[in-house]
Amino acid sequence: MSIYRQRREFIKTLLMSVISGLPLHRALSKIKELPEFDGPKMPVLFIGHGSPMNVIQDNPFTRDLRKLGDMLPTPKAIVSISAHWLTKGTWVNTSSKPKQIYDIYGFPPELYKIKYQPDGSPYLAQEIVKKSQNIIKPTEEWGIDHGTWTVLYHLFPKANIPVIQISIDYRKPLHYHIEIAKALRFLRSKGILIIGSGNITHNLSKMTWENPESKPYEWAYEFDLWVKSVIENRDYELLTKPKTTIGKIWKLNHPEPSHWIPLIYTAFLHDKETEPISFPHESFQYGSISMRCVAFGKLAQ
Ligand code: ZN
Repeated sequence: MSIYRQRREFIKTLLMSVISGLPLHRALSKIKELPEFDGPKMPVLFIGHGSPMNVIQDNPFTRDLRKLGDMLPTPKAIVSISAHWLTKGTWVNTSSKPKQIYDIYGFPPELYKIKYQPDGSPYLAQEIVKKSQNIIKPTEEWGIDHGTWTVLYHLFPKANIPVIQISIDYRKPLHYHIEIAKALRFLRSKGILIIGSGNITHNLSKMTWENPESKPYEWAYEFDLWVKSVIENRDYELLTKPKTTIGKIWKLNHPEPSHWIPLIYTAFLHDKETEPISFPHESFQYGSISMRCVAFGKLAQ
């Protein structure tokens, strides 16, 4: 299909979506499917990644990640939406060997020696591009940043499952990310594990650097509990307007929303009518960082 025709098709789909009132993801036309997966529907994970130091530490968070990795059905590939790839437009990395990005500064040398270099999946990346009607665009730029590799290092230590990242369009309102999430839902029944990597509370300027185990601030504790209850009640729409529902502690917990947006993706990938929810880990690090992780869907099969 020529670029001109693709663009025309996309505009037509958008118009159809507006005129018919259908959500964009349902207005997307049918495109050749990924092969069916004969395993279970994959869960979706939100992982609070916190400090990159976790990759070299043995602590309650990393131990729970290891346990979680053991419980998961083996995916065919992993799609990661990391708080650390913020772009204009939404992009998917199409490399067959995505580069490991050390987007971390001022940490001990041993951290830069950690290797996590799985294959990519150009085929899967192109399928995502097609299925989204080119709203998600292909690129060989970027690779796997620390929001992804510090987490997968514990979840899938062998690095033997292909990994691709999708970027976050940082200019867009939260409802845009919901539409992208819905367009990615088809991956769950194709054996693809989707991970959102951020943090439920994330105020770097208030971190107690000298003590990772310090008590959480009241406002962080309260916010984390509020998110937990919203998730338990499956009232995900509330996550899209935290400022109006939880008030001024929103800004205290998220001076900027990069680490919040991955939670929006994961929540809206959940089939909230039928699937279970669990919290594979909950704790705080450095007083202001909630390490809570959420599993949307069934874990142990
Ligand atoms: Zn981060």
